[in-house]
Amino acid sequence: MKDFDYTIIGGGCAGLSLAYELQIHKKLENKTLAIIEPRPEYKKDKTWSFWKVSSHNFDDCVKKNWNNFSINLPSKTHHLECYDYPYQSIDSGLFYKKIIDELRKNKNIIFFKDIKEISLKNSFIFNSVPSLKTDDDNIWQHFCGVEIETKNNFFDDGIINLMDFDCEQRKSVHFFYTLPYSKKKALIETTWLSKMDDNSQKDYDKQIQDYIENHLNLKKYKITYKEEGAIPLFYPLNKQEKNKINIGTAGGMTRLSTGYTFLNIQEHCKYIRKNIENISNAKTFKISKKYHFLDEVFLRVLEKNPEKMPDIFFKMFNSSTKTVIKFLSNKSNFLEDLSIITRMPKSIFIRALFK
Ligand SMILES: Cc1cc2nc3c(=O)[nH]c(=O)nc-3n(C[C@H](O)[C@H](O)[C@H](O)COP(=O)(O)OP(=O)(O)OC[C@H]3O[C@@H](n4cnc5c(N)ncnc54)[C@H](O)[C@@H]3O)c2cc1C
Repeated sequence: MKDFDYTIIGGGCAGLSLAYELQIHKKLENKTLAIIEPRPEYKKDKTWSFWKVSSHNFDDCVKKNWNNFSINLPSKTHHLECYDYPYQSIDSGLFYKKIIDELRKNKNIIFFKDIKEISLKNSFIFNSVPSLKTDDDNIWQHFCGVEIETKNNFFDDGIINLMDFDCEQRKSVHFFYTLPYSKKKALIETTWLSKMDDNSQKDYDKQIQDYIENHLNLKKYKITYKEEGAIPLFYPLNKQEKNKINIGTAGGMTRLSTGYTFLNIQEHCKYIRKNIENISNAKTFKISKKYHFLDEVFLRVLEKNPEKMPDIFFKMFNSSTKTVIKFLSNKSNFLEDLSIITRMPKSIFIRALFK
């Protein structure tokens, strides 16, 4: 069986991002790479969105940038601007195509469907398959979205609705998310932050139809694409081992309070590429510990007080928009953290600290 210098287990977002980063920086000219990926074909299956707080390799896969967003409660709305850090959406179909086309140019990179097809004896492994504890107590961000098209102009494509809490909460945390790609096209997602033990929240199609037809008051539209997923808002069990680095969700790149992962994956890939010549001895790349702590407290508050969360998210955005974006994208300094923390309802956060 063939041996490779590097093996990437899982050719999804993190695995392909890493292979691409190594390839374009010419780190694979004299090294071999195996990518283990069981999926039969690459096609659009996700839309990755985030505030662009740092650069990445995929600007040409961006479907749209926005400089405005809103947070909506039944009784009030925040309209916010983000010119410093535009909100971007990446089309995974374009992302996969761009990377696969580039990797095909290098004969040292070979895809396999199963890890049993190669020898791992002398390989340095980058693993992106998460090991997740299936525990009913864990909180997930689970969601379903549809892209719809209308015949006539309907959407204001200059502003996204990041969180619309004006919907059924069912004793949980629930919001709709709308990304208008044009005046006639938008992605509309129903999103829950909850334990996944309650199947009654998964009537996603009905929720979306009701939101579009009765809340947005749009009766005629065509569904052109659908995506569904669940992001674990808890850390995976994957452990760091000798000659192995976990990447992506498996590598703890998800911010637990938001589910945002894409840009953290890109930063991790850059870090690995910079250290690839001495990767066995490189320090582990992590999202700063302060966010681990703050996110865990935040999730404890969410678990105990779901009914308060719409108001808490809304209050968070009473700070300067730039500060909140930096905080949610792990780029905030101490004073910026403080400015968010002091806006949170003190008693429930203090109680959560001692649980
Ligand atoms: C639908 C959806 C939308 C999301 N939207 C956003 C967003 O807007 N913004 C954001 O920041 N984050 C988002 N996320 C979170 C995160 O960015 C994505 O989950 C991202 O794909 C994580 O990258 P990954 O490489 O860790 O996992 P994946 O992209 O899932 O890649 C893992 C790969 O491993 C393969 N695999 C599985 N089992 C094996 C095995 N046994 N051996 C080998 N390979 C295997 C899979 O086929 C897959 O290709 C979203 C997640 C989902 C599910």
